[in-house]
Amino acid sequence: MSHDETAFLDALRAAAGAQAVLTDAPDVAPFCTDWRRRYTGSAIAVAQPASTDETARIVQACAHHGVAIVPQGGNTGLVGGATPAPGARAIVLSTRRMNRIRAVDPVNDCITVEAGCTLRAVQDAAQARGRLFPLRLASEGSCTIGGNLATNAGGTEVLRYGNARELTLGIEAVLAGGRVWNGLRALRKDNSGYDCKQWLIGSEGTLGIITAASLKLFPAPRAQLVALVALPDIDAALALLAQARSQAGPALTAFELLSEPAVELVSRASPDRRRPFPAPHPWLALLEWTDHESDEHAAAGLERLCAAAIEAGTAHDAVIARTLADCADLWHLRESVPEAQARAGGNVKHDISLPLEAWAPFLAETGSGLAALQRGLQVFAFGHLGDGNLHYNVGTVPGTPPQVAFDLEREINDIVFGAVERHHGSVAAEHGVGQLRRELVARVKAPQEIEWMRAIKTALDPDALFNPGKVL
Ligand SMILES: Cc1cc2nc3c(=O)[nH]c(=O)nc-3n(C[C@H](O)[C@H](O)[C@H](O)COP(=O)(O)OP(=O)(O)OC[C@H]3O[C@@H](n4cnc5c(N)ncnc54)[C@H](O)[C@@H]3O)c2cc1C
Repeated sequence: MSHDETAFLDALRAAAGAQAVLTDAPDVAPFCTDWRRRYTGSAIAVAQPASTDETARIVQACAHHGVAIVPQGGNTGLVGGATPAPGARAIVLSTRRMNRIRAVDPVNDCITVEAGCTLRAVQDAAQARGRLFPLRLASEGSCTIGGNLATNAGGTEVLRYGNARELTLGIEAVLAGGRVWNGLRALRKDNSGYDCKQWLIGSEGTLGIITAASLKLFPAPRAQLVALVALPDIDAALALLAQARSQAGPALTAFELLSEPAVELVSRASPDRRRPFPAPHPWLALLEWTDHESDEHAAAGLERLCAAAIEAGTAHDAVIARTLADCADLWHLRESVPEAQARAGGNVKHDISLPLEAWAPFLAETGSGLAALQRGLQVFAFGHLGDGNLHYNVGTVPGTPPQVAFDLEREINDIVFGAVERHHGSVAAEHGVGQLRRELVARVKAPQEIEWMRAIKTALDPDALFNPGKVL
């Protein structure tokens, strides 16, 4: 170890205490690989501050020694954003020890939490006070609020409550040089100039470290039931969405879509679970109805909706879950897809959004493009159709090794992203850019937007020490 490195590690230990600094290779390694095991890097150390002050002192030490900082929360990101580069002169700054709920304010309907709180801990703290924090992701037991804000996470309730950006009232952060910015004003109106917290939301750790946030709460609903609707094609799914929106209004809190190959993948991964319908259907839509009346009222709403869809010929079949256990079962089907994909050997992922009317031509164009490229490819499409966002993942049919798709990744991406561009969509709908989509940002953002992003990066992080190699 060089003299410089020894001096730097001493400074880190002085900043946060020796117990907060990991340097042994087996301790550091899990922080240097991402959830999908697609990226592996290295770090001089992992620093685990327990407070904003400790974070500030760590950032000061890094600035003094010119060491880069890769912020990391739950490490559930899907684009390699929290993984350092191989051979990087960097530390991973893990926020997991900053996990206190600072305050719940039922009058202003807000909660103030530290960045390392898991999303589930925040949901639970809200629920304990009769409130709802409506951000919901399949990774909620592990992902953190800091990571959710840094990626502007979406999830299943965006349709009704918006994504992380819309749920944030204020932010506290440690910025370049270790300056602490206390922007935890929980105001619902504040037009006193630029809204600086928005720069950090969705910045993926490239502008500073979010240490705490004030978040919006909502009244806890009395009833939340789901229905699963079998559909013949994507046009029927869009017709059902339009019908559900006009019939349910704000009671429609989620509208998720699953293609048959995605359902089949989950069935293969959990053979003990029975399929929701005896026969396969090209698409299944999962609708969630949330209201402040009663289970009976919610069930009646879903019944009317499903009956009208079947009568109109939009839907082939429907099941309504009337108990918590049945609802959890249907949600499990939807939320198990990422895990089932990983177990099946992975696939070439695309987290894309399109204007709703573009989905039918997009699926037709990319379907024929992929069929012409290679036999044995299969699309596992699923996700948040209500927000115009599907995960359009390209793998292989059973019996064809997943590597066949990975070997064609560039050609597959050309087909998919070419169609996204033609239909004016986004190549990074909710998972962010990280390392995976960095080269693609210029395809969907105007040159002026890239210039503004660079100007903000230079202004907030002049020495480029926050999460180098990500986003820009
Ligand atoms: C099974 C599964 C399902 C998922 N479903 C969804 C979904 O429905 N919708 C969705 O949007 N995402 C989803 N994700 C992706 C992921 O869970 C989210 O991106 C989540 O917000 C990441 O949180 P994290 O704490 O794990 O962040 P990490 O993975 O640790 O980090 C993600 C990014 O945020 C930065 N970062 C982390 N903490 C901070 C901080 N305190 N300050 C500044 N920067 C920080 C990192 O540097 C990195 O760039 C899913 C992931 C999995 C594994």
